[in-house]
Amino acid sequence: MLSIQGLEVRYGAIQALRRIDLELAAGEIVAVIGSNGAGKTTLLQSILGLVRPDKGVITFDGKPITQLSASRTANLGISLVPEGREVFGTLTVLENLRLGLKNKIGSTSKEQFERELASIYERFPRLYERRDQQAMTLSGGEQQMLVLSRAMISKPKLLLLDEPSLGLAPIIVSDIFASIQELAKGGTAVLLVEQMAHKALSIASRGYVIDNGRVAFQGKSSDLLQDQRMIKAYLGVH
Ligand code: ATP
Repeated sequence: MLSIQGLEVRYGAIQALRRIDLELAAGEIVAVIGSNGAGKTTLLQSILGLVRPDKGVITFDGKPITQLSASRTANLGISLVPEGREVFGTLTVLENLRLGLKNKIGSTSKEQFERELASIYERFPRLYERRDQQAMTLSGGEQQMLVLSRAMISKPKLLLLDEPSLGLAPIIVSDIFASIQELAKGGTAVLLVEQMAHKALSIASRGYVIDNGRVAFQGKSSDLLQDQRMIKAYLGVH
């Protein structure tokens, strides 16, 4: 579904990505791991079209998207949940969820939306309790539930997630990760950037480790979880 070949991104003198190759299939969860400044966010932004690559080709569903703007890639079914949870603060929880429909490919009936809403409220009862509350009054964890639920409603073909666990309590992280798995079961491809390498690899089929803009190593999650270099550098604490 997503194929990246020889991707290079430069910010002036800083080379943020160097010859990145990456593949992602429909329904697959792939983890992207790396320390601060490794280039993970830049990778997600170049796929969406927020950052213009200097070299390389990105194809989505067999079509080149390397030079497309973010609004064009969004129309193709690519959705980014950025680090920092962007909710519409003055809108209520329910209004935020409705916005997910705006990005949806094709149309949704009212009944369909109600069904999806019911399943989201079942997974995250907190959102139900707070459905008429302004989103800015939610806690960090609740806001992350909300942005992820909004993405679920928009049913993207490809979901790019930037550090969804950041600053959240472990129990909430488990809920969030379970929802990501559910989304992938429905056919969405997920590229999951995470600092919590152990947790990310536990739901991903494969992982890429980015170091200083390069793919340092990659492989099946089960292999990476046992790789000595991984354990030393990224999996020691979890
Ligand atoms: P973090 O985990 O800290 O968010 P990251 O792996 O997502 O890091 P990026 O944000 O992609 O890393 O940054 C990669 C490199 O590019 C870093 O050295 C960063 O300072 C630099 N960089 C990122 N955005 C810009 C920008 N707009 N202008 C200049 N340099 C940038």
